[in-house]
Amino acid sequence: MTELTDLYQELILDHNRSPRNCRRPVVPSRQAEGYNPLCGDRVTVYVSLDGEVLKDVSFEGSGCAISTAAASIMTQGLKGKSVGEARALFEKFRRLVTGDPTGDGEPELGKLHAFGGVSRFPARVKCATLVWHTLMAALNDRGEVVSTE
Ligand code: ZN
Repeated sequence: MTELTDLYQELILDHNRSPRNCRRPVVPSRQAEGYNPLCGDRVTVYVSLDGEVLKDVSFEGSGCAISTAAASIMTQGLKGKSVGEARALFEKFRRLVTGDPTGDGEPELGKLHAFGGVSRFPARVKCATLVWHTLMAALNDRGEVVSTE
C-alpha cells in the first residue's frame, strides 16, 4: 500500500469513506454493470435521462478506494450534463489518468484532477476508469457486463 500513498489524496479518501450518490434509484432507469477482474472492483451505474440530459446518476458497488471514489466523484459531476458532454469528459479523464499531457489542466475536470496521480500506477488506471466505461454502457443501453479485460 505504501507505493499508493500519493494516490490517496484527501478528496479520494473522503469520497471512499462516504460515497455520494451511492444508491439504487426509485425510478427505473438505464443501468449497466462493470467488473475489473484485475482488482476485483464491481460497480453498477444507474442513469436517468431526460432527453439528452443526465437527470440523475448513481451507483452501487464494492471495490478499492480508487474505484469507489471515482464512482462517487463522477456521479457528482455529471448531473445536468448532456450525453455528449459526459462522453467528452470521459475522454479528458482518460487522458488525465493515462498520463497524456493534453489531459492535464482541463478546467472541466474539476475534482477529477484528484486522480492525476493514477497515471504513475498503470494497474490502477482500470480502477479509475471502470465506472466511466460502465456509464458509457448504460448510455448505450447495452445489456452485457462491462469488463476491463
Ligand atoms: Zn481497484
